[in-house]
Amino acid sequence: MAFIITEPCLSVKDTACVDSCPVDCIHPRSDEEQFESESQLYIDPEECIDCGACVPECPVEAIFPEEEVPEQWQQYIDINYRWYSRERTTH
Ligand code: SF4
Repeated sequence: MAFIITEPCLSVKDTACVDSCPVDCIHPRSDEEQFESESQLYIDPEECIDCGACVPECPVEAIFPEEEVPEQWQQYIDINYRWYSRERTTH
């Protein structure tokens, strides 16, 4: 299980979540090269410890536990996994 960043993040990339994450698993950070070219931020599903600290920090409510991602944004589960070249092991 992991937390997933979904569509409301597109073009917002607020980055408050990045600072709230205790294991630094949300990228790209604003000081990373890909930040300008990426349309959203992503959570590394293997590094995420499911603490939920990022959720209330997001001003556009884009972050959900994997099993609670709304139906219309299910594709963002794979989008987050793929950005880190991670295999999805649970469905
Ligand atoms: Fe980081 Fe916790 Fe959010 Fe996972 S749930 S991305 S560990 S702040």
